Amino acid sequence: MPVHVDLRDGVAVLTLDRPPVNSLDLTLRRDLRAALAMVMTNPAVQAVVLTGGTRHFSAGADIEEFASGVRGGATAVPTLPDVIIDLDQAAKPVVAAIAGTCLGGGLEVALGCHHRVVAPNASLGLPEVKLGILPGAGGTQRLPRAIGVNAALDMILSGTPVNAAKAAKLGLATLSTGDLIEDAVAVARQAARDGAKPRLSLQRAEMPADAGADWFQQRMNGLKRPLPAPLACIEAVRAAVELPFNQGLQKEFNLFRELVVTPESKALQYAFFAERRAARIDGLAADARPRAIERVAVIGAGTMGSGIATVAANAGLEVILLDRDEASVRKGLAGITKSYESAVAKGRMDEAERDRRLGRLHTATDLAACAAVDLVIEAAFEDMGVKQDIFRTLDKVCGPDTILASNTSTLDLDAIADITSRPENVVGLHFFSPAPVMRLLEVVRGAKTAPAVLATAMTLSRKLGKVGVVAGVCNGFIGNRMVEELLRQAYFLVDEGLLPWQVDGALERWGMAMGPFATMDLAGNDIGRAIRVGRAAAGDDRPYSTFPDKVCALGRFGQKTGKGYYQYDPATRARETDPEIDALAQAHAKEIGLPPRVIGDDEIVARCLLALANEGAALLGEGIAQRASDIDVVYLNGYGFPAHKGGPMYHADSLGLENVLRLMEGFLGGYQGQFWRPAPLLWEKASAGRRLTA
Ligand code: NAD
Repeated sequence: MPVHVDLRDGVAVLTLDRPPVNSLDLTLRRDLRAALAMVMTNPAVQAVVLTGGTRHFSAGADIEEFASGVRGGATAVPTLPDVIIDLDQAAKPVVAAIAGTCLGGGLEVALGCHHRVVAPNASLGLPEVKLGILPGAGGTQRLPRAIGVNAALDMILSGTPVNAAKAAKLGLATLSTGDLIEDAVAVARQAARDGAKPRLSLQRAEMPADAGADWFQQRMNGLKRPLPAPLACIEAVRAAVELPFNQGLQKEFNLFRELVVTPESKALQYAFFAERRAARIDGLAADARPRAIERVAVIGAGTMGSGIATVAANAGLEVILLDRDEASVRKGLAGITKSYESAVAKGRMDEAERDRRLGRLHTATDLAACAAVDLVIEAAFEDMGVKQDIFRTLDKVCGPDTILASNTSTLDLDAIADITSRPENVVGLHFFSPAPVMRLLEVVRGAKTAPAVLATAMTLSRKLGKVGVVAGVCNGFIGNRMVEELLRQAYFLVDEGLLPWQVDGALERWGMAMGPFATMDLAGNDIGRAIRVGRAAAGDDRPYSTFPDKVCALGRFGQKTGKGYYQYDPATRARETDPEIDALAQAHAKEIGLPPRVIGDDEIVARCLLALANEGAALLGEGIAQRASDIDVVYLNGYGFPAHKGGPMYHADSLGLENVLRLMEGFLGGYQGQFWRPAPLLWEKASAGRRLTA
């Protein structure tokens, strides 16, 4: 039975038991309704405690059920709102005892209870906006009544959970410092004695003291992006203030129904499932068990190595940070310490936690220190000779089962693996910069990487809080190989007379977090140049604009030199356009000498994004990526692609592949049109009327 009932001296404790996270699917809803009805009619019960035990209260609605229709299986009676109304109208007080995850529908259930008690590990939130919807089981009506309109909107619009201490501060719950269930039982008993049942549905939602008449409009105007879901969340909360409770619930339901079919919501739901799917490795042998990873060595204490060491220490691993000499190691460690100090100063970490994490970090300057680790992650210079030397030595000093990983961005992983006697124990772990922030981790499968090693790397990526995506060996793997095609188009647009900020502006208006020129300024234009040189040396003779080389020739490498395609304020790092770059771009276009023509946002966006999708289809056809949705996961988590557009492959599908081919055909007659040869897989899927992301 998914709901256990246990009677404790007049208080019925109802424990949800639907592993792994108490999703509120039909079975659980039915059982909860039945259990509630039973305890309400049992004269021996004076009050009720509802809990999920000490691990999770509930992670919310069953997303698979939810995605299978407007509300799919979620419309089956009792629906979630039905069960919450049962709680709200219960004749006896119901107290939610919350530990761990209490999200979405889980928090809405807790809000239907008369009191909430939280364990210190509790995490409470309404993340629905991240799926392009709103909390549709009364969350937008009850949360403002519980904690006031402003705090409720902050939680609903961010989708970010609050911890137990914050929940207590907001007045959302009482903090338990002892035994959660015992404390909740005591609260329930007291509530039964008081006879008062403070239902949120009977209360009023409090506005901020200084709220003017246009307060809600101001919140709408303040949205970073006025997408349908956040706008509707504000509408719904406004209804909580302006309408009686039941009408507010109806308004919430109507808005929910409209939202769930928007293209934004569909893309966000797609992205959610795409991320889950990415964790699966196709064709993995059943006996490919992940190995335990507890001790790691990171070679190179530079930008990436320090970041990776931080990520590993944060995840509770013992870390050896290693560089060529004491000074380099000390510099790396000092950088890490500084970032922890800054987290403490901002109140994001306490001193004890800082000390625990720093305590896991050890340093070394000799590769022999790697003798007893489970995994080595090499993040030294991007140079084949340097990396092969390191791997040759590691192969000698490390135990036979130690996994050797490289963070290389552009080098051939197989050539690194083959220098060792254990290529099956070599894998690529391509982190993105800054490593502690970026969620993406490309897990590169070499020609000889053993299935168990791949499985270990994917399991580790989760432990590190990253989204691992499997990629095959090729120049640039998935993300950088595709971005190269986008960059090629962006630079061609400058050849044709556009200015860098115009190209960036079009893509940023469309939804990209950062345009390609600003991105290159962040990554370093010298790095882009090195990649181009490497590609040319490897025989890639496809034309490339000479504009980026002209910018590099001025020493404008981007943010690190204060100037690139933009100039950067030394204090704030704010980017500004630079007349010198505008003049350079104009002179460059004049030199190319194309007849002037107006190039609008639509063309800029189409060329840049279809260049991505076409290359994505090419590498999918080559088996570099396992599935189109993995490519989207790469772009959503590593390249600032807007989640509400699903990713470059999903976006191509949304346009319709036939339309994509038609657009590409149109570009064929334009400048450098020879690039618009559709990848065979794109052609194949379009001709068959299919999608890339099926
Ligand atoms: P970096 O120059 O900041 O750091 C490299 C560090 O490696 C230096 O501290 C250097 O002293 C050390 N080192 C060099 N040779 C060594 C050796 N033989 N033994 C021990 N230490 C040695 O470089 P980075 O930007 O951190 O890049 C490191 C690796 O990560 C490269 O392979 C790069 O391609 C890759 N990478 C970089 C980024 C990025 O954005 N910077 C992103 C992904 C991957």
